[in-house]
Amino acid sequence: GPSLEDPGPALAWLQASEARFGHFINGRFTPPRETFAVLNPATGAELAQVSQGSAADVDAAVRAAQSAQPKWAALSGHERAKHLYALTRHLQQHARLLAVLEVLDSGKPVREARDIDLPLVIRHFCHHAGQAEILEDEFPGHLPYGVCGQIIPWNFPLLMLAWKVAPALAAGNTLVLKPAEYTPLTALAFAEIAREAGLPKGVVNIVTGDGVTGAALVAHPGVSRLAFTGSTGVGRQIRRDSAGTGKGLSLELGGKSPFLVFADADLDAAVEGVVESIWQNQGQVCCAGSRILVAEAVAGRFTSLLKRRMARLITGNPLDKNTDIGAIIDPKQRARIADLVALGVAEGAELFQGAAPPGCFYPPTLALGVEPASTLAREEVFGPVVTLTAFRTPEDAIALANNSRYGLAASVWSENVTLAMDIAARLKAGVVWINAANLLDAAAPFGGIRESGFGREGGRDGMAEYLRLPPARASRAEADL
Ligand code: NAD
Repeated sequence: GPSLEDPGPALAWLQASEARFGHFINGRFTPPRETFAVLNPATGAELAQVSQGSAADVDAAVRAAQSAQPKWAALSGHERAKHLYALTRHLQQHARLLAVLEVLDSGKPVREARDIDLPLVIRHFCHHAGQAEILEDEFPGHLPYGVCGQIIPWNFPLLMLAWKVAPALAAGNTLVLKPAEYTPLTALAFAEIAREAGLPKGVVNIVTGDGVTGAALVAHPGVSRLAFTGSTGVGRQIRRDSAGTGKGLSLELGGKSPFLVFADADLDAAVEGVVESIWQNQGQVCCAGSRILVAEAVAGRFTSLLKRRMARLITGNPLDKNTDIGAIIDPKQRARIADLVALGVAEGAELFQGAAPPGCFYPPTLALGVEPASTLAREEVFGPVVTLTAFRTPEDAIALANNSRYGLAASVWSENVTLAMDIAARLKAGVVWINAANLLDAAAPFGGIRESGFGREGGRDGMAEYLRLPPARASRAEADL
């Protein structure tokens, strides 16, 4: 039979914590009031009832963050680093529980949650503990913003939390984070773990709820800096809603990233790259390589290698360690994927699909014969769907790659490093991988250009986002020198 991860401990945690599914404000869980159901996307079963945050809840959380902030900021970088290292250790201790809880809540395959999401989460906190340690050297005189308002999507619930929380805390900010309404459970588990690790109360506050809760956080005058990851549409809305305020803002939005395969590429490696690029997390990845552009000379061979690989992908139970592609987050999102693919077919696309079980699953899908102007070539599907187009020359490849309103990521495959570096420099993308795809690292800044947003997360650039420039100081004596 299949080798299943045991959901028992995660389900037991859910049951033990049920009474606590209020918001995490000032170091404790508020009693749940108005609640909504959180479902397991793979089965449709209810996992928990979680609170819908009101404007008053958001206000209480922001006030808690405001009163905790001066003391947190007054700690030395070294003292904050000790807290972040403690958090790192406690996350490590609970890694298995968090991975399985993430699978139940999001539908992603357990192999990914265990081998990708959790190690990256832990690495992110560890890296930012180091950033806190060297803060005064790296950013002398810089100041934290104060209270950060952070809003995240459902595709990498705990990893997106880590990307937001770790640098904010390292820099001396306190925060209110709102997880996505589909996937609030690991954020609540994180709150418990932060408390267990001894993080001072009020430093991290979690308010659950939908976009209405998010909008209340965006509007709150006590928030000095906003960070949002999610759809381009909501990002635009948040930019409008915060215009005219003094709030700092960074947006990590959608993408339609190109995956370029040149004639001299290692085709087997490139096929594995496609698997990582578009079939990780069911393709619900902002930087997914959803447009394969392949040199005409090898397009036939590459396509047949890819089809053969697709036939071996296993879509199904996310708790099965052999599963490659798990459940789509929600039936509405699945219907949206199916509608976009049907539109693609109506516009002339020819499909090759793997297998998928009934339910909230979608098979790995390759769309051939997609015109650059058509819907499938332009719209972000946010599902396991990739288009394939042949190009003649490197110039054609660059023109096709850049023919998008987005600019998040790109992947270039060639054994000729000079060519690959030259192409990379000409791609309109915030991140370019060479002979790799979807590689994330806490030390490397990640973020987009054009309609994929602005701001960076990770590395020194990501830290700078959470710090204000030092006030300019000039004395009469200096001016006279
Ligand atoms: P979404 O924009 O619908 O929701 C994201 C978050 O915003 C959720 O927490 C939601 O409750 C909240 N929200 C909704 N309306 C709001 C409003 N008016 N004011 C404040 N908050 C509001 O996005 P999603 O469907 O959860 O995620 C999918 C999208 O996220 C995709 O387009 C994907 O490309 C993008 N994404 C981008 C990155 C990146 O780093 N660039 C990473 C992951 C996902």
